Order: sequence, then C-alpha cells, then structure tokens
Amino acid sequence: MVYRTARVALRVTPGQRRRCFGLLRSAGDVWACVLEINAWRRRRHDAPLVGYQALCRELSGSGPGTFGELDSTGARSVLRRFSDAWFAAAKARRDGDLSVRFPRRRRALMPVRWYHGTFTLDGLRVRIPTAQGASPLWVRLAREVPYPVEQVRSVTLLCEGGRLFLDITAEVPVAVYPPGVGPDPGRVAGVDLGIIHPYAVASRDGEGLLVSGRAIRAEHRMHLADTKTRRRAVAHRAPKPGQKGSRRWRKHRRRTRLVEGRHKRRVRQAQHEAARTVVSWAVEQRNGVLRVGNPRGVLDIDAGRRHNLRLRQWQIGRLLQILEDKATLAGITVDPVNERGTSSTCPTCLRRVPKPRGRTLSCPHCQFSGHRDLIAAAIIATRTPGGGPTPAAVVLPKVVTHRRAGRHLPGAGQSRRDPRRPHRVSRGSVGPRRPAPPPGGESLALTARIHNAHRKPGER
Ligand SMILES: [Zn+2]
Repeated sequence: MVYRTARVALRVTPGQRRRCFGLLRSAGDVWACVLEINAWRRRRHDAPLVGYQALCRELSGSGPGTFGELDSTGARSVLRRFSDAWFAAAKARRDGDLSVRFPRRRRALMPVRWYHGTFTLDGLRVRIPTAQGASPLWVRLAREVPYPVEQVRSVTLLCEGGRLFLDITAEVPVAVYPPGVGPDPGRVAGVDLGIIHPYAVASRDGEGLLVSGRAIRAEHRMHLADTKTRRRAVAHRAPKPGQKGSRRWRKHRRRTRLVEGRHKRRVRQAQHEAARTVVSWAVEQRNGVLRVGNPRGVLDIDAGRRHNLRLRQWQIGRLLQILEDKATLAGITVDPVNERGTSSTCPTCLRRVPKPRGRTLSCPHCQFSGHRDLIAAAIIATRTPGGGPTPAAVVLPKVVTHRRAGRHLPGAGQSRRDPRRPHRVSRGSVGPRRPAPPPGGESLALTARIHNAHRKPGER
C-alpha cells in the first residue's frame, strides 16, 4: 500500500468560500499562537513547547471558540505540522546542516487536514468538519475523487493562488500482475532526465522512449513573457511603500495570482503526463527496474543567470519524485545512480567527447554519432553503484517511441489563450510563439511510433 494525494478544486458559493477562508485563517491563528508561546518561552529561557501531545494540552486549555469555526481535529493538524517541522529542523541541525531553520514565519492562511472519520465524502459533495455548534459546511468538488471512497484517509483544505482546493489522500494498493506479465526485476532500463526531453529511457534490449518537453518549455517562456509585459504595463500604478493600494491595484494582484496558479497547474499536469508515459511504457516493456541518473550535483553549481533560470524551471526534484511515485504504484523499482559523464561519453569507445551543442552526440575518436539523451539513458542503464560501463554492456536503442508531454498546453496545438478569459494586457508580440501546427496534426504526433530499425543504431 502507498499513499497518494490528488488535488481537487472546490466549487463554493460566496458564503461557503467565506467560511472556508475563515477556517484557513483560524488555522493561521493557531500557528501564530504556537510561534508566540515559543517566543515567550525563549525569552524566559524555558524549554520550547514543541511536542505534539504538549501542544494539544495547551490547545484544549484554550477552550472552545478561541479559533472560530475551526474544530479541534483541524486545529490539532496544525499542531502536528508545527511539531513535525520543528523536529525535522532540529534533526537536520543536529546532523550539521545549520541552513535549516526552525518554523518562525507567521502565515495568514494555513492548510488544515482532517483524518478519516471526521469528514464525509458523498460523491461530489464533501462535509468539512466544523466546531461544535456551527452549522454543517458542505462544499462541492470540481471533479470526481480519483480513488474509491473506502481508500480515502484524509482531506486537506488549502488555498493556492486565491483558489480553494482539497488535497485528498488515499491509501492505494500497489498494482499486481498475473504471473509472467508484470515488470521483471531482471529487466533494467536507464532514464536520463533532461530539459528538452524530461525523460529519455533506454532499456537493455534495444527499446527506447523519448518524451519531448518542448511544450512545457514554451509554456514557461510564454508565461514569463506575459508576466513581464503585464508588469511593465501596470508598474506606474503600483502603490509606494507604506501606501494603501487602490482597488484597481488589488484587482490586478488578484488577476496575477490566478494566472500564476494556472501556469503552475499546467506545468504540473504536463509533468505528470510525462511520468505516466514513462511508467506505462516500462510496464509494457516489462522493465522491473528504472535506473535514474541523479543530476543533483549540477544544481549546486552557479551557471549564470540564464542557465540558472532554466535549471529552476526544470524542477528536477519534482520530475524524479513524480516518476518514483508512479513507478512504485506500478510495482517498478526506481534506482538512482550517479550520472556523471553519461552525456559526454561515447557509448562505443567510452572516451570523453566534447559536450554536444544540439541533440546529436558525435564522437571524434570513432566517428560514432547518435541521440545524446538516449545514449545517456543507455549508459545509465549499465551503471551500478560503484561500477562503470564496458563498451559491450551499452545497448543502444534501435526502436524509439516518441511522445510529447503537455498535450493540454497551449503551445502544443490549441490556441495560446484560454478562450473564456481573453486578456488584453499583452498587445502585440510577447516573446516566442510557436507557429500553428497543420490541422489534424496533433493526434498524429501523439501516436506516432517510429520504427527506425533500418537506421544506424542510436541515430534519431
Ligand atoms: Zn567513440
């Protein structure tokens, strides 16, 4: 069994919205109180009050009604969050990482979690627990919960970008397969994480998968261009420090939050699709182990303004995490290995080659050339902790499947703008824009399975 969480938007009336925000604000008050108690104790040189039980005793001492409509289970979830964060920071600091800090920032809104048995899930309707005496709070979900009701373990109310969401956590069983059909632990594939191709996969028996992330990159770029234009257009209206913003400015801020939230959701959706593709492919190929090149090292090096932005947008940690989650659920093991040098090594003579500028790696020593990301994946597939590859062990993909991540993204075919919300800030040209694809081309691109066995091994 593994835990999985789905974020579902809420459809609320203005009254329900007010009450939900009331709960989040009360949770923020609980958080602020805990911070304050500990600030006092620190000043008195007392031991901090951080244990969950001790905090709960303090909470029950505060009496009913202190935190508005927030019930005690909801309030306790905030205490749990504080306690966990405090002990995690304490442990990290004990282990020598002094950059980790204890929780100390107040937050206006704090997510609230309720455990199984305290809330009611009835199709699209959810009853959120409230304090005794308050009228029941029922809200509507914007879509079906993707898990059977009996698997749901907790719900978390939160606000992101000005919108209310419910994170629904369920305990999901790991997939089981009939004998001889499921992933085989003896069949290993290598995965190379990249920017242009979020995932390039090569199995040890000559199959390859390339997931293109160009649509994700386009979404990032267009979002950045839009944000810049919008900011420039309204900069002269910004309130001075200490000055109260106008109503128009508040509206602008609200709009910015919504656009930001939509951008984040779009990218996340595309990343999930990309990982889904890899896992389905691996199940189809019966690969029981995915060896993933772990490029964490490259993130610590300062690479300049432009490249740093690129690395941040890449969100490597999340790509890894999403892949690992989906693979675990499908019964596939994810095995991180060192990827040093995999993108600058020739697979046939194993000598270092100059870093290729484009997607094609060509070796000056033995005239080999092939797709850089797939080669890296093939070399990663041979890596074990502590062992290097031998030329005979590197199997280059001969059959390569191409997939695109982010079909829903505007850069991937449909018009850039959400038709329901025409926005007028960006008149004229705003940065790079993809040319419109020919009509009907989209479905072809999605399902194209290119068998290029007649080409040279590894060539794209
Ligand atoms: Zn070579």
